[in-house]
Amino acid sequence: MRFLQEASINKYEAILERSKTKHKEIMKKMRHLSKMQKPRFDEMVHRYHDEVFSEVDCTECGLCCRNLGPVFRNTDVKHICSKVGMAEKEFHEKYLVQDPDGVGFMLRELPCPFQDADNRCSIYDTRTLSCVNFPHTESGNIQKKLVGLALDSLYCPAAFMICEKIIDGYK
Ligand code: SF4
Ligand code: SF4
Repeated sequence: MRFLQEASINKYEAILERSKTKHKEIMKKMRHLSKMQKPRFDEMVHRYHDEVFSEVDCTECGLCCRNLGPVFRNTDVKHICSKVGMAEKEFHEKYLVQDPDGVGFMLRELPCPFQDADNRCSIYDTRTLSCVNFPHTESGNIQKKLVGLALDSLYCPAAFMICEKIIDGYK
């Protein structure tokens, strides 16, 4: 079981290695597409999202939890504290610092302290909204978020695979 999981992690890390080598191209194409008028773009990306996540298993990957970490809003902190039985002040002191963009808070250290030894989220039902939505390919107005998706593709194999599908769709 452990061997299988390590094999999966290597598979996802290999996808990220490929993403790094193609990053300049991905960034350029996403920038270009973000400025164009493309009809039914969200619908197309939602379809790619479903196709990619039918192949990718987040519970076997966990790379965003190890290398990126989410944004914590006050409501996320409240929610998680009630789940883990910790005072909010203690939670802030132990785990969080202010996000430089002022959007919320970010983790002091990575990997995320809630990722368990089996690479899974120990607070899955109360994980942050940012964790739930990542990599934001089920949202609306995706064309305006393509540069963000290109940046996320350095951390998330699924984001990279979706970027590739978007690019292939316009060849
Ligand atoms: S809260 Fe859970 S899903 Fe979110 S980064 Fe941490 S381990 Fe991953
Ligand atoms: S969202 Fe992306 S990086 Fe995070 S676990 Fe799923 S595939 Fe991996």
